[in-house]
Amino acid sequence: HFRALVADNNGEEAPTLTIKNLTTADLPEGEVTVRVAYSSVNYKDGMVGIWGRMIKSYPHIPGIDLSGTVTESTDPRYKPGDEVIVTSYGLGVTHYGGYSELARVPASWVVPLPTGLTQREAMILGTAGFTAALSVQRLEDNGLTPEKGPVVVAGASGGVGSVAVNILAKRGYEVTASTGRLSEEAYLKELGAKHVIHRDELTETEQRPIRRPLWAAAVDPVGGKTLSYLLSTLQYGGSVATSGLTGGVEVETSVYPFILRGVNWLGIDSVECPMELRSRVWERLASDLKPTMLSNTIVNEIQLEQLPEELALILQGQVRGRTIVKLG
Ligand code: NAP
Repeated sequence: HFRALVADNNGEEAPTLTIKNLTTADLPEGEVTVRVAYSSVNYKDGMVGIWGRMIKSYPHIPGIDLSGTVTESTDPRYKPGDEVIVTSYGLGVTHYGGYSELARVPASWVVPLPTGLTQREAMILGTAGFTAALSVQRLEDNGLTPEKGPVVVAGASGGVGSVAVNILAKRGYEVTASTGRLSEEAYLKELGAKHVIHRDELTETEQRPIRRPLWAAAVDPVGGKTLSYLLSTLQYGGSVATSGLTGGVEVETSVYPFILRGVNWLGIDSVECPMELRSRVWERLASDLKPTMLSNTIVNEIQLEQLPEELALILQGQVRGRTIVKLG
């Protein structure tokens, strides 16, 4: 027997979340079975677990991230005892996820735990940390260097934002952290932000195609009116890495930032990110991009029992940094 957080639906709009004892017969098909050590809490986990978004059938086990140790594998690339990370693809969305002491997944979803990261550290990063690193990688692939000027991070006290602030600061960028919670100023400065501003300063009130250039680049997990504003305030040749939607999905913009300032609007997707790039980004998270917050900052660690409450909080924008879930 093993324990898992199971989402069920009794005809109501929102799923019910209950901890249940399951057996291996309950696990979905897949080549690799993993004894899960840690999972984590992402905004998407809230959308799935609390709102029932994207779930195709019930019962369902949420959790888009997991790290752990292989117990069984019919794929020659993995053997019992191997330490692994599994995130993305259908994990926790269309396939049973990481809020479970045991998980079974397709071998093509598995990333060997890179040397330089523990299973716990891998989940302090999780999909949010991976997305932050992918954003930095893509900005630098498009010419960003610390000499180009200041970089702004929206939603800075959230998961993607906090890791992005920390990675960029460690690499020598002058980081402005934008947040709706100025009470987190000390935390954001500890992560390396030079300036902390209120999110209202980055939110468009009147649509203007172009404004005074302010940033060499932006990391944006917020979207909506924040993204409209960021596009209109990038410096010549600057880039914004778009990853999220906590501030809205509609974006009003015009061609002007693109044709007058040559800016780049970079889409960041962790879910279908090709395995070659995915492995490279995880290797970098274990080495040159490894955030200092992994060793310095106190991490919110919870048990399965606390998940329903924590998932509701992240949808309200009330979770600071990253939260990990200890299994077993
Ligand atoms: P998170 O920890 O909740 O962080 C999101 C942050 O957004 C919040 O902490 C808050 O930061 C800010 N925010 C919340 N509500 C807002 C609002 N109404 N207006 C403006 N800002 C608001 O979530 P996360 O797990 O980091 O994910 C962040 C976003 O990225 C989500 O939309 C998620 O779906 C997306 N995401 C996408 C990918 C991908 O592959 N593209 C991967 C991971 C995540 P402050 O309090 O500091 O303002």
